[in-house]
Amino acid sequence: MQAFQFQNPTKLMFGTGQIAKLKEELAPYQRVLLVYGGGSIKRNGLYDQVSAILHDMKLEVVELAGVEPNPRLHTVHEGVKLCREHDIDFILAVGGGSVIDCVKAIAAGAKYEGDPWDFMTHRAAPKAALPLGTILTIAATGSEMNGGSVITNWETKEKLGWGSPHVYPQFSILDAEYTKSLPKDQTVYGMVDIMSHVFEGYFHHDADTSIQDGWMESILKAVIETAPKLVQDLENTKLRETILLSGTLALNGMTTMGVRGDWATHNIEHAVSAVYDIPHGGGLAILFPNWMKHVLKENPARFKQLAVNVFGVDASGLTDEEAGRAGIEALRTFWKAIGAPSRLADYDIDDSKLEEMADKCMKFGAFGGFKKLERADVLAIYRASL
Ligand code: NAP
Ligand code: FE
Repeated sequence: MQAFQFQNPTKLMFGTGQIAKLKEELAPYQRVLLVYGGGSIKRNGLYDQVSAILHDMKLEVVELAGVEPNPRLHTVHEGVKLCREHDIDFILAVGGGSVIDCVKAIAAGAKYEGDPWDFMTHRAAPKAALPLGTILTIAATGSEMNGGSVITNWETKEKLGWGSPHVYPQFSILDAEYTKSLPKDQTVYGMVDIMSHVFEGYFHHDADTSIQDGWMESILKAVIETAPKLVQDLENTKLRETILLSGTLALNGMTTMGVRGDWATHNIEHAVSAVYDIPHGGGLAILFPNWMKHVLKENPARFKQLAVNVFGVDASGLTDEEAGRAGIEALRTFWKAIGAPSRLADYDIDDSKLEEMADKCMKFGAFGGFKKLERADVLAIYRASL
């Protein structure tokens, strides 16, 4: 495996009632920016719970509501302005990956003279950030325990990922109760995203990685076992908890110690979301099996390992490539069965903007750790996904 350094500073507080610890975590602060999305936390009662705690602590609270799914740069600007106007000393994100990602950009933006978009375009790297914490309401991105974030600039129609060690949440509260109000489609998108994060790490060329491979396979198996039950029983706390923990572990850096993953499919999906504003997990469900087919020949044995260890494919008498292909088909069948989309046409996307999306993917040149993709590869994957 590769040499690596691992440090994850986020304190994870997992389980029913963990919100009781919020007081202790916020004790050192005076002026809090409370950030949330389009209103789901008002409907499920979490907003009232959090507000009561903040009020009880006599904190000065400033609110930024309405963070969009696929959070927008202008909302980041709004947050930075509020931080400066009110001399905010802590930012609390209550919501999903979109709210958390937006908060990360605000936290770093508040300590930066220029436009935070510079972080996303790699023109600058944050040197500091305001401290932040999260209360998670959807199992999906892993943003609650990593230093990554994805922001959309709607003017340039670009959706770009960035990251910094300065924007790891100080703490994240994960209580499955708050995820029970998540509708079926969003629950499915979240589970697709979780599995996709594992796949992005799983397709690597490093040797002697049986520990990491085993961790990744076990997360995938847990999601595959749990997802069909959860879509039938959305308010089941135990099932929600399994998915919640899977989401965090899939992208908190632990499973990819010493391996160099791929991450091409996320880039390819971000270009679709940037142009058509579709849900991230929905886009991944369409694109990932087609990326897999496109790169299968790069290392068929790796695909066979996934097929056999995760999808239970009987590989006797099959070549590695045939077994790998059977695994990819099993993934497609599984995602379809839980209700995920499988074609761009499911979102009314035709071939009219494929070139534009491919250009966006190539912004920083050829990409992908498992197989470097050029523009022609990206177009082939888009065409196969129509
Ligand atoms: P999300 O965009 O945060 O939320 C999706 C939708 O679910 C929103 O409409 C939200 O409504 C609703 N929702 C959230 N919690 C709910 C609940 N408990 N009950 C009812 N509705 C609820 O979803 P996400 O998948 O977590 O985040 C997606 C974003 O993260 C994308 O931009 C993606 O590119 C990015 N991403 C980030 C990372 C990372 O590591 N940072 C990794 C992968 C993807 P409200 O707005 O009303 O709350
Ligand atoms: Fe993702």
